Amino acid sequence: MARNYNFSAGPAMLPTAVIERAREEILDWNGSGMSVMEMSHRGKEFVSIAEKAEADLREILTVPENYKVLFLQGGASSQFAMVPLNLLRGKKNADYLNTGMWSKKAIAEAKRFCDVNLAGDTSENNFTTVPAQDTLNLNPDAAYVHYTPNETVGGVEFDYIPETGDVPLVADMSSTILSRPIDVSRYGIIYAGAQKNIGPSGLTIAIVHEDLIGNPLDGVPTMFDYATHANAGSMYNTPPTYNWYIAGLVFEWIKDQGGLTAMAEINQRKAAKLYTVIDTSGFYSNPVAENARSWMNIPFTLADSGLDAEFLSGATKRGLLTLKGHRSVGGMRASIYNAMPEEGVDTLISYMQEFEHTNG
Ligand SMILES: *Cc1c(COP(=O)(O)O)cnc(C)c1O
Repeated sequence: MARNYNFSAGPAMLPTAVIERAREEILDWNGSGMSVMEMSHRGKEFVSIAEKAEADLREILTVPENYKVLFLQGGASSQFAMVPLNLLRGKKNADYLNTGMWSKKAIAEAKRFCDVNLAGDTSENNFTTVPAQDTLNLNPDAAYVHYTPNETVGGVEFDYIPETGDVPLVADMSSTILSRPIDVSRYGIIYAGAQKNIGPSGLTIAIVHEDLIGNPLDGVPTMFDYATHANAGSMYNTPPTYNWYIAGLVFEWIKDQGGLTAMAEINQRKAAKLYTVIDTSGFYSNPVAENARSWMNIPFTLADSGLDAEFLSGATKRGLLTLKGHRSVGGMRASIYNAMPEEGVDTLISYMQEFEHTNG
């Protein structure tokens, strides 16, 4: 059996140890005589799986007691609507930082419900920087401030947490959650689609300060009210049980690696190696400002885009998959989330150096 190195932006690699454990347990979970896929979400077996997963996530991220951890569906894209629906609370304005493709989508959705003030906007430099705190045009009356700590397409990542005073800060952490420790108490809401750094697609995690739950916009659909899920332990309806279970295995795996401090060290090292190779070559380049470079998604271009197809086919032959850049950016993109082993990055680097030597 060959496990390739898959650099997909999402759904992305899962730790091999997690998939092996799931395989061992697939027919008979813990002597229950059932697969997790077949269990009632209200049965004692699944409830124990769900509770353990939440407890482990709370431990890994040190989530304070006054935050709910919700296991939802609908992807991060549903949160683009759920955030204004729950947080506007009679206000008509929200602040958004526009730093790339995912913030643009969040902004477009918010505009259906409120006036959006672009408190920061890096479109004029083609989304290659993050706006500095002292340049933010924050409205002290805004219902909330929304930003995207890591822009998955552009490979741009904030190197600071915006200070927003009393206005709740909302973060779409889909492509950076669990890559390092964070101070959850700085946020009103953190949300993430699972398929990058948590587990399989189909699960969405929202970590929501209790004060922001309840009092949604009139007419909000039941399923789009945070209170519905918070009051029912994320079991108002049938949750994505198998995905929740796999996410729990990933949380256990992270604990086994030494938690988020250890993950951060590995992630930073993996990213630094790859940026060094790009920066020290005359053949590869990355346009992102140094302080804004993502640890998770690293786009790079070849000096001659006519060689892109050859680069990609050679990579595939070596088991280095899905390196094609997003259609809006072109070139290549290496997504190196938690589950990408350091050897995967080393193998990519060797291939890049070899390709440059032959074609550069
Ligand atoms: C992938 C991604 C999304 C979209 O997530 P879905 O779960 O597919 O809706 C949103 N935001 C960011 C930052 C992403 O990386």
